[in-house]
Amino acid sequence: APKGFIAPNVEVKPFSAAFDVVAHELTHGVTASSARLNGYPFSDAGALNEAFSDMFGASTAFFYEPIGTAPLTASYTLGRDLAVPAGALLIRSLSDPRTTRDPDHYTQRIIGGDPHYNSTIASHAFYLAIEGGANRTSGLAVQGVGAANREQIEKAFFRALTVLLPSNATFALTRAATIHAARDLYGAGSNAERAITQAWDAVGVQDRIAPTATMLPNPASSTAAPCGGLQPSWNLGVTVSAGSSNLRFTQWVWDIFNHNGALEEHDTLSPVDFSQFFRSCGPGSTTLLAQTDACSSVCVSFLSGDSRGSTQITFTAVDDAGRTVTFATPRVTLR
Ligand SMILES: [Zn+2]
Repeated sequence: APKGFIAPNVEVKPFSAAFDVVAHELTHGVTASSARLNGYPFSDAGALNEAFSDMFGASTAFFYEPIGTAPLTASYTLGRDLAVPAGALLIRSLSDPRTTRDPDHYTQRIIGGDPHYNSTIASHAFYLAIEGGANRTSGLAVQGVGAANREQIEKAFFRALTVLLPSNATFALTRAATIHAARDLYGAGSNAERAITQAWDAVGVQDRIAPTATMLPNPASSTAAPCGGLQPSWNLGVTVSAGSSNLRFTQWVWDIFNHNGALEEHDTLSPVDFSQFFRSCGPGSTTLLAQTDACSSVCVSFLSGDSRGSTQITFTAVDDAGRTVTFATPRVTLR
C-alpha cells in the first residue's frame, strides 16, 4: 500500500518484502502437511499453528541474514521489513511480546481470540529457550542454550511439529512434545531439555490435570435460520479439553434454558453423537487423547420460539483408571 494509505506517513510493502514473513507462510505449508494444526478459533491448535510459523520465520531469517535491526537483517521482531519506517505496523515481538501488545504468558490467552495474538505465548517460550532471560509476567528466569546453539531448540520444536503433535494439540501437549523431542535428540538432562522446560514454566504452560469444557461467550445471534429453520439461532463454539488422562465419552447432556431460567430442553446425547458433532478440531471420535482438544461449532435455537435464554453442555466420560468424570461448559447467555 502506498505511503499514507493504511496509516499516516507509513508505507506498507508487498508481504514478500519481508523474508521472515515469507518463511512464516511457507511454514504453514510444512504444518499443513505434518501436524495439520487446526481448530481455529476454538482450540489452542490455531494459535500453535501461527506460533510455529513465527518461530521458523525467525529461524530462517537467522540462518540466511546477518543479525541486526536494519532492513534485511534477522531479529525476533517478525514483519519488521513490511513497513517503512521499519516496524511501524504489522509486527510481532517474540523476545518481548508485550511491546507489540501480544501476550507473554498463558494467563493472558484469550479463548476464541485471534490465533496470531495467542501465538506469542508459545513463540516467546521458543525465544526464551534459545536466548534465556526472564519472563516479564511471571518473573521466572530461563537459562537458554545460547544463540550459538539455537539449532538445538529449532530442531526440537521442528521434531515436535512434524513428528509428534496431532492436529488437535494444545499448548500443554506442545510443552510435553518439545521436551520429549529435546530428550530424543540431545538426551535426558541435556541443556536443550532444561531450557525448553524452564521456558514453558516461565510462560505459564503446564501439563493439564483435569478435563475442562469451554463455550465461547457472547455467541452471535443469527436470523439466517441455520438450525433447521428455527429463528433466531446461535452458533456456539464448544471445546472439550482432556487433562492427564485419555477419556472415553459415555454421554453428554445439552440443557437449554428459556428467558425465565426454566429448563426448556434437556437432550441426552450419545458417544457416537459426540464423534459426529466434535470434529472442528481433531479426528472426531468417541474418545479424546490426554492433553488434546475436541471442538465443535454447533447451532442452537428455542423450540418455543423464545428469543433469549441460556445454554450449557455437561460431559460424562470414563478415564484411564476406570473412573467416571463429569464436567461442564459455563452456562452461556443467548440473546
Ligand atoms: Zn500465519
